[in-house]
Amino acid sequence: MHQYKGKLIIHTGSMFSGKTSSLKKDLNRFKIANYKVETYKPCVDTRGGDKITLHDESFMDACGVKEISEIISDVEANKYEVIGIDEVQFLQGTSEEIKDGITEILNKGVTVVTAGLDMDYNGVAFEIVKELMPVADYVNKHHAVCTMCGTDAWVSHRKVKGDARVLIGAQGEYEPLCRSCYNKVKKEEALEVNKNQIKLEIV
Ligand SMILES: [Zn+2]
Repeated sequence: MHQYKGKLIIHTGSMFSGKTSSLKKDLNRFKIANYKVETYKPCVDTRGGDKITLHDESFMDACGVKEISEIISDVEANKYEVIGIDEVQFLQGTSEEIKDGITEILNKGVTVVTAGLDMDYNGVAFEIVKELMPVADYVNKHHAVCTMCGTDAWVSHRKVKGDARVLIGAQGEYEPLCRSCYNKVKKEEALEVNKNQIKLEIV
């Protein structure tokens, strides 16, 4: 028995912060130690089919799922000892259902390692990550580098407009920014909108 048996380990942070790389590193350690390990990823993330593509272009095999219930059945059927869930914020179902499902898996003595975004591009928390953080045994908050000033980034700022909380496969449209640079950019964007409105009124 290892010290992480039945424990919840969370990797969170903005985009490009190395969450998934850390998940992969943790799971590799369990694999080396000969534990039965499986990785899951919500199907909504279509990048690479049954694989998770990391920013360094390496891959990790992953089983595509929609809901936590599928993970529970699969863990039960295959007697996995350690599981990883990448992009946990994309699992379907309510935060309550997902949290209860993860708790059920933990109560069976299975180690659960998750990677997920803490906030969307507006700085609003993803509900499930917000729910899981206090109940987790280990919380790792990762930081990308602010593209404007080089300090630790705080949020993934989206350069294009759209209603979706996350644009899948549009990583190039995001830039990690620290709080101060994010506030600066937001102010400039607001000025830009005002300027365009004034132009329209003049026309
Ligand atoms: Zn900055």
